[in-house]
Amino acid sequence: MPVKIGFLGAAGEVTGSCYLLQTDKSRILVDCGMFQGRYADDRNDDEFDFSPANIDAVVLTHAHIDHSGRLPLLVKRGFKGEIWATDPTIELVAVLLRDTAKLMGEESEWKNRKNARKGIPPVKPAYGERDVEETLKRLRYIRYDERTAVADGASVRFRDAGHIVGSAITELWLANDGGQVKIVFSGDLGPRDAVLERQYTLIEEADYAVIESTYGDRNHKSLEATRAEFREALAGAIEARGKILIPTFAVDRAQRVLYEIKRLQLDRTFPRMPKIFFDSPMGEKATRIYEKYSSLLSREVQDMLRAGMNPFAPEGLSYTSGVDSSRAINDIDEAIVMAGSGMCSGGRIVHHLKHNLWNKNCHVFFVGYQAHGTLGRRLVEGEKSLRIAGEDIAVGAAFHTLGGFSAHGDRDDLLEWASRFGHGASFFVTHGEAKSAEALASGIRQMGYGAAAPARGAYYDLSEKQAITRPELAPPAPRALAFGSRDAVFALLADIASEAASIRENLDSRADFADISPLLESSRLILQTVKNIKTKK
Ligand SMILES: [Zn+2]
Ligand SMILES: [Zn+2]
Repeated sequence: MPVKIGFLGAAGEVTGSCYLLQTDKSRILVDCGMFQGRYADDRNDDEFDFSPANIDAVVLTHAHIDHSGRLPLLVKRGFKGEIWATDPTIELVAVLLRDTAKLMGEESEWKNRKNARKGIPPVKPAYGERDVEETLKRLRYIRYDERTAVADGASVRFRDAGHIVGSAITELWLANDGGQVKIVFSGDLGPRDAVLERQYTLIEEADYAVIESTYGDRNHKSLEATRAEFREALAGAIEARGKILIPTFAVDRAQRVLYEIKRLQLDRTFPRMPKIFFDSPMGEKATRIYEKYSSLLSREVQDMLRAGMNPFAPEGLSYTSGVDSSRAINDIDEAIVMAGSGMCSGGRIVHHLKHNLWNKNCHVFFVGYQAHGTLGRRLVEGEKSLRIAGEDIAVGAAFHTLGGFSAHGDRDDLLEWASRFGHGASFFVTHGEAKSAEALASGIRQMGYGAAAPARGAYYDLSEKQAITRPELAPPAPRALAFGSRDAVFALLADIASEAASIRENLDSRADFADISPLLESSRLILQTVKNIKTKK
């Protein structure tokens, strides 16, 4: 009986992590995450590619919504098994899923008010707060480094992934006709020089490894260079005496920023900081969980705690809970404001951006990954006029992108993790945009392993060490996307966006702008025609 793996999300893109493992004894999901970015709403509401009632267990690598966000939908649609995770993950996921359900509820109420005026029938959110509570009841805790049976013929061991508190590399053993297959999921991997977290665990033995590739084609600046850059940019921004906006993911990025600010405050030569508003009730809850599980954090953090300081509480920090106090920040000229969402696709950061982006004295710091189609990505890519919450904004603010603050390892970190496996291992590269996943797969092949970047919806048979075990052979052809299907269109859009980004990166002052312009002009016209088709009805 074959052991099969299906790649049902985070294939050719960063979000929507979901893998299905199937043997004759059991069916297990690793992660059940949300898609994020443009058009994500429709996709999150899609039918699953399997029947939820037939899934025996879920293994959750970490709490981030792109790994956990569709769990309540899974439960709502009939999943009856257990969801296995580390202790901090269980606490974090409760905070994140409750918040997600609340946001979705508010959003559909808002849509329905608008739709009612146009006579359009009401929409329902993918799931509600009750589905979240049902989901939380199914969570079961596994300690790091202990092997535990999670379903018939399947056992799991979590190892620290150094990405956020509680994040786990997942070793999974599946029984198969007298033998067994071992498959390792990297989950999201932290950088080798992790700041808040411990360094990721090295795994040496596996038949297969599924590795993330968020930054599979890029290296970050070093930690030292990143800190120097942050110090200089922040000092400049403080001097401009305007708002300093930091869109932050509530989990980990926010705690990291608080910690880096705290470090700068200990340096007496650094300019005096304005008030710091952490405008995120969810961020506050996440920070408490970081404090609670500080024994799982880095030595650096524990040293600061031992010295009697709270690493996540810089001077002048206040948490903003109510919406009114969030709005009141608009009346203050000078302040550091941290708010979510991290990609500016919703949440309180949107109103801060709307009120401040026009201002030349405003500085915005991006400290995390910005997915295609999000407001954050458009700002990073330099769009100068935008419509935000119903208002046209001309962008005057200055932007700083601190890639080195990422909770993800860069290309070298990922290759280093991969290089420790014995040569019997083969790799599936996921959780990265197509260009990035392909670049990492090719780097791994150069080290002598088999590696493929599967397409969404592809299944592979793991019971025979087939095709990808030998790098000179092409990976088995994945199920092709049906021409004209929605998935095929999404893949095309992702390609177009990544082509545009790569054209921009490769332009230098000697480029033949006169030749390039008319071609780009016609591409834009074609895209506009497509847009008009979409909005016809
Ligand atoms: Zn993550
Ligand atoms: Zn992720």
